[in-house]
Amino acid sequence: MRTLGLLGGMSAESTAIYYRELNRLVRERLGGLHSADLLLWSVDFAGIAELQAQGRWDETGRILADGARRLQDAGARAILLCTNTMHLNAPAIAAAIEVPFLHIGDATAAALKARGVKRPLLLATRFTMEQAFYRDRLAAAGLDCLIPGEADRGRLHAIIYDELCQGVVSPASKARALEMVARARAEGADGVILGCTEVGMLLAHDDLDVPAVDTSLVHCEAAVDFALG
Ligand code: GLU
Repeated sequence: MRTLGLLGGMSAESTAIYYRELNRLVRERLGGLHSADLLLWSVDFAGIAELQAQGRWDETGRILADGARRLQDAGARAILLCTNTMHLNAPAIAAAIEVPFLHIGDATAAALKARGVKRPLLLATRFTMEQAFYRDRLAAAGLDCLIPGEADRGRLHAIIYDELCQGVVSPASKARALEMVARARAEGADGVILGCTEVGMLLAHDDLDVPAVDTSLVHCEAAVDFALG
């Protein structure tokens, strides 16, 4: 089994999901007491979130590239960045390492296409919904992403940072997210991207009447394919 290197802590809530899911998938595929062979470098998210809010993406890129290199030097055979938003720094990270960088957008695009989705609603942080880095990656794979309106984007961003990243799952926020999905359905959305690694804490497949792709789960599946492939 190849060792995976995880850049995590963004937030710690979703990195815990990665840890659980990677181990569950390896056990499911190999059986018995098998579990994932991995290294985790977990940041203090408060500092990263402050840099995000100030738009200091060069600095976050340097921090994450340094972390990726450290994981590689410690023996990681591929790097997994456990957040969609910080894939804004994917080029800087990938340029700093020789081992593969397993991009969450590629795993997401493949999962959407496998489910026949063409116009997914992207539920994510403001950075991921509003900047080009993520939607362009999906567009290159032939997917036309819809995003919620301005007020919904602000609310969802606050739900992610003020609630989910702090371990709070609120029924009122879930209801609000479902309203966003209903509005997007009326505009022609044929699927939903849980495009923030914490959004799966709020919404599950069973809550939705269209295919949903949980980015953290499909990212873990791609990583386990690599580790065992
Ligand atoms: N984990 C989140 C994501 O997937 C948001 C936290 C962050 O900004 O990294 O985008």
